Formats: sequence, C-alpha cells, structure tokens
Amino acid sequence: NRIVTPNLKSDDIEIEGSLRPKYLSDYIGQDKVKNRLKIFIDAAKMRKESLDHVLLYGPPGLGKTTLSNIIANEMGVNIKVTSGPAIERPGDLAAILTNLSENDVLFIDEIHRLSRNVEEVLYPAMEDFALDIIIGKGPSAKSVRIDLPKFTLVGATTRAGLLTSPLRDRFGVICKLDLYNIEDLKTIVIRSARILNVPISEKAAVEIAKRSRGTPRIVNRLLKRVRDYAQVVGNGEIDIDIAKKALNMLEVDNLGLDSVDRKILNTIIEKFDGGPVGLDTLAASTGEEKNTIEDVYEPYLLQLGFLKRTPRGRVLTRKAYEHMGIDFNKEDEV
Ligand code: ADP
Repeated sequence: NRIVTPNLKSDDIEIEGSLRPKYLSDYIGQDKVKNRLKIFIDAAKMRKESLDHVLLYGPPGLGKTTLSNIIANEMGVNIKVTSGPAIERPGDLAAILTNLSENDVLFIDEIHRLSRNVEEVLYPAMEDFALDIIIGKGPSAKSVRIDLPKFTLVGATTRAGLLTSPLRDRFGVICKLDLYNIEDLKTIVIRSARILNVPISEKAAVEIAKRSRGTPRIVNRLLKRVRDYAQVVGNGEIDIDIAKKALNMLEVDNLGLDSVDRKILNTIIEKFDGGPVGLDTLAASTGEEKNTIEDVYEPYLLQLGFLKRTPRGRVLTRKAYEHMGIDFNKEDEV
C-alpha cells in the first residue's frame, strides 16, 4: 500500500480512465517513441495495412497501456486487451485470435509471463497470420492451418530481457519507455488538473512532479491526494504551500522517496558500506523481491544518480549519502 508504487492501485482506476490520453498529440513526453510510432502508423495507414507488431518495454506506470490504446485510435481500429497470466491455455489464445477483425490491435500486457505452449501459438499467428491446429490423436493426427485476420500485436513488458528471443524477434517495432523528466511530469499534472477541474499553480505542479519518481501514474495519484487535501484544508485551490503540506503528510520526501527506498539505501550503507552489493544479497537483506528491486526501485535510484551498476554489484554514490544525511568518506568514488 505504498503511495508511490508505480503499480496500479485500486483507487487509481477512478481517475485513470478520464486522464488517459487518447491520441499521440495528447501523449506527453517520450518524443523518440512518439515520432517513430507516428511514422509507422502513417505509413501503415497510407498502405491500408495493419501496423507491424510493436513491443513496448519499461517500468510500470509509464504509459504502455495508454500507448497501445492510442495506436488503435490512431489506426481507427478496435483493441482487445489481455495479459500474459490471463491466457492460460493455447485454446484461450486461439479463441482471442479468431475473434479479431482485420487490422485490430491485440494488446498483451506482461507478455513475458505467457507460458511456453501459449507462446508457440503466437509465433505463426504473428508471422503468417495463421493458426496451426492438431486434429485427432496418435498416428492419425494431422495439422490443419487456419487463416487469421491481419492484426497488430502490441506487447508490453517491464523488461525486454525477460522475453524469449523467438518472441522478441517477431516484433517489427521495439520501443523503450524511459522515466519522465520533471518538465514533462509538470505538463502532465497541469493537463490532469485541467481535466479534473482543479485550479493549480505552476510551482505546485512542479512540486508534485518532483516527487513522482518519473512516473505519470504516480503524478496523477499524488495530484488526486493533494486535491483532496486542498478541498478539506484549503479552498480547493492547489498552491505550493498546500502541495508541500499534503505531500509531507503522505511521507513522500522532496525527491519522491518513501520509507522502502530509504530502507534500501540504509541497508546498502550500513550492511555493505555503500556497496558493491549483488542484487540477490540486497533482496535477501531488505526482504524485497529481486524483480521488484530491479523493476521498481532501481530505475528511479539510477535516474537520480544515487546508484550505479558496476561489474561487482550495486554501489551508492555521494549524492545518495548526502540525501540520507550521512557522511561520505570513501576514497574510491564511483
Ligand atoms: P503502464 O501500462 O506502462 O503501466 P499506463 O498506460 O496504464 O502505464 O499509464 C498510467 C497512467 O498514466 C494512465 O492512466 C495515464 O493517465 C497516465 N499517462 C501515462 N503516460 C502518459 C503520458 N505520456 N501523458 C499523459 N498521461 C500519461
């Protein structure tokens, strides 16, 4: 129940639907990804063909689901949304595929979690738009090929490295989403506040942006909490004073770090003298899952310049010590 988790929380759902950009022009930041997608989408539309399969990867909450919906809107086609763990058997995937219409988008979130036998159904589907079905059993069994409509698979994953290479190789477009900078997050806060009809000052928007760990989902969640505070404690308007008070009350520090991040930083400082420490050891000694450390905590600590990855393990930098208010007295600075 961390306020700064980038994963979807149940109370995010209320506002996420209304705040989700619908077209590339309302999608803020990620210019490199947007420009590439725009070219591919325009070209596919000119040729009246389906868009090549797209793989989106990056930490949670950065806009992968949003982009897949935008791709469908821009192409003027329908989207079917599912996820790796939801497709249990090959037959489930076959049912989804045979129900698609020409040029539709099929969005598979957490695509790295597809089971191997489901994934094998996907290969001919992606490559030849066909489904191979085995009819009968034993020596009389035969394989029948069924044609599928042309479709665009949009896969999302937190790390491209988790995908098997035969699957990864079948994506024509591979895009990496990066954590957002403060300027883009500020623009997102101001856009969301306008949609939610909440007056907000520019300084307050920057304050919320700074504490959102480069993640639009967190920006919107913090905005919603600050809005509640402004309504109860103030007159509904969000100025810098209200924003700071509300965010301090939520125990999110001025860089968006909370008690879990501080625990990780403290563990590296106290138990490992600032590192290097391996990921497995760090996971064991903080009680956090290895994958969560890699997908959720590390990207932001790396972006802040608090953590460095070295061949011998993770090492904390002088900046991290300064933020934690602990003297940095090491000679071999990384
Ligand atoms: P992911 O699928 O990567 O976990 P989502 O696409 O669900 O992330 O994004 C989370 C929320 O953040 C969305 O509801 C949307 O409102 C907001 N969001 C994401 N990216 C952007 C963006 N580039 N511009 C504006 N809002 C965004």
